[in-house]
Amino acid sequence: MKIKIADLEFEPLISESLIAERTKTIGQQLNADYPNSVPVFVGVLNGSFLFIADLIKHIDIPCEIAFTKLASYYGGTTSKLKIREDIDLIVDIKDRDVIIIEDIVDTGNTLNYLVEKLKLRKPNSISVCSLLLKPAALQNPIDELKYVGFEIENEFVVGYGLDYQELGRNLNSIYKKV
Ligand code: 5GP
Repeated sequence: MKIKIADLEFEPLISESLIAERTKTIGQQLNADYPNSVPVFVGVLNGSFLFIADLIKHIDIPCEIAFTKLASYYGGTTSKLKIREDIDLIVDIKDRDVIIIEDIVDTGNTLNYLVEKLKLRKPNSISVCSLLLKPAALQNPIDELKYVGFEIENEFVVGYGLDYQELGRNLNSIYKKV
């Protein structure tokens, strides 16, 4: 069923049950990959808030959760090169295993910026888990991107944390622009 958000129309792309199933699998993979570590999960606000909340329920190793807030879109439907930093990560990540949780990687500029910035704080390791990836839009490969929920076409999506003009974050599934 099509829905309207502000001036745009969207149609279903990834269902709630598919997201839940994939999230559980990624959680199990993370448990297996970090058996002797107490990793710090770093959620990138706002878009990742639902994904990190659901993912963390499947994590059964000891872990910490922290947040940072970056923005590169400012309400439009195309990625802007300029990155605005709204909330810095305040936990000390020196010698820690860091797992960045992203909603979506488009050009990869936001993620690159964050990874390079966190590397300066000398963590033991950094890996990235993104719910969505647009491989055709990615400008430079990001070695740290080890966990991806779904690869999608180069299209604009909303729902499950992702917004259009700050609307649609509350949708339980993911929709694409018609
Ligand atoms: P990048 O820097 O990789 O180009 O863009 C990453 C950020 O742009 C994401 O964290 C997200 O906030 C936003 N973004 C990229 N693609 C989309 C999209 O299709 N829909 C929405 N709502 N946001 C997107």
